[in-house]
Amino acid sequence: MIDLRSDTVTQPTVAMRDAMARARLGDDVYGEDPTVAALEERAAQLMGVEAALFMPSGTMGNQVAIACHTRPGHEVVVEAGSHVLNVEMSTMARFSGVLPRVIAGQGGVFTADQLEAVIHPDVYYLAPTKLVCMESSHNAAGGRIWPPDGMLQVAERARARGIAVHLDGARILNVQVATGIPVRQLVHGLDSVMFCLSKGLGCPVGSLLCGSRDFIREARAVRKALGGGMRQAGVLAAAGLYALDHNIERLAEDHENASILARGLSEIPGASVWPQETNIVVLEISGRLGAPELCRRLARNGVLASPAAAGTHPRRIRFVTHLDVSRDAVLRTVDLIARELRPSAV
Ligand SMILES: *Cc1c(COP(=O)(O)O)cnc(C)c1O
Repeated sequence: MIDLRSDTVTQPTVAMRDAMARARLGDDVYGEDPTVAALEERAAQLMGVEAALFMPSGTMGNQVAIACHTRPGHEVVVEAGSHVLNVEMSTMARFSGVLPRVIAGQGGVFTADQLEAVIHPDVYYLAPTKLVCMESSHNAAGGRIWPPDGMLQVAERARARGIAVHLDGARILNVQVATGIPVRQLVHGLDSVMFCLSKGLGCPVGSLLCGSRDFIREARAVRKALGGGMRQAGVLAAAGLYALDHNIERLAEDHENASILARGLSEIPGASVWPQETNIVVLEISGRLGAPELCRRLARNGVLASPAAAGTHPRRIRFVTHLDVSRDAVLRTVDLIARELRPSAV
C-alpha cells in the first residue's frame, strides 16, 4: 500500500525503535523522567524559548495553550480553515469557555489589518480579545506557508494591543526546511508554539508546547488537569529525540516528492492542483468521477488518499508525502490517477 492519507501514518524505523528501547525512564508526573526532560530541553533550544512541555497530541498542545492564554468569556482570533477551529472537537468552547472570532483568510493566511478589524475595543460591554492563533504550514490550505514577514506583522500588531500570539506549528519544521529560515527565527516574538513529532518527523506519538518558563509551568498543570500527565513517557520522548537528530533535514525529500506529485497531477486533463509549498498536495478533479469514487478506485490499486481531508468538497483529494513514501511510489500514483481519469476509464 502507498499511504498518502496523512504524514501521521508513518511507522517508527528500526533505529527509532532501538532508541525507544534503550531510553532511561522515570515517572514524569514526579518530574523524574530524564528522557522527557532531555526532549523538552532540546525542543526549547530548537524554538529559541525558555521551556517546553511534552504533549500526547497536537490538539492537547494547542488547547492547553488556549486555556493558559485566556479566561472564560474571552475571544480568540482564528482563521476560518484552521485546525484549532475545525478539527479539535470545539475544545476551546468546552474546556476554556472562549469564543472563536473567525477571520476568512486567503490560503489560510490573514493580515495584521484583518486582525485589527476584529479586535474589540477595551470597553466593559464587549468580550476582551486576548489571543490570536496562526497556523503554518496550513493543513487545510494544502500545506501553505504563512509568509514569515506577515506572521511577524500580525504578532507585532497583536502585541501592541496586549493580545497573546500562539502558533499552531504542527508542521513548522516543514516550513524551516522549505524556506531555509531557522525555526527559532520563524517563531521569534510569539508567546507559544506547538509542533508535532507524530507527523513528518516520523514519531509514533507526541507534540511539544513551547514558551516562557512561567507559561510552561501553568501549561504543565493544565495538561495534568486534562488527564495528560504521563508516567514513563521517556519511551516516547526517545523517539522524539531521535527524530530531531535524524528526521528534520530529510523533510526536503517529502517536499520534493510532493512537488513531483503536484507537477505530474497538474498535467492530467481534468485535474488541477493547488499551489504546493511543502508536503501536502490538493487535487481538484472535474468530469463525472467524484473524489470519493476516485479514492475507492485508487485504494483498489494500492494507493490511499483522503477525499474529505481538505474539507468536505466532493471534488477534492488530499495527498501527504512522508518518510514511508518513496519517489517511485509517487510516480506510480501519478500514473494510476492519469489512468483512472482518462475519459474512457470514466
Ligand atoms: C495534526 C495537526 C494538529 C494536531 O493533531 P493531533 O492529531 O491532535 O496530534 C494540530 N494542528 C495541525 C495544523 C495539524 O495538522
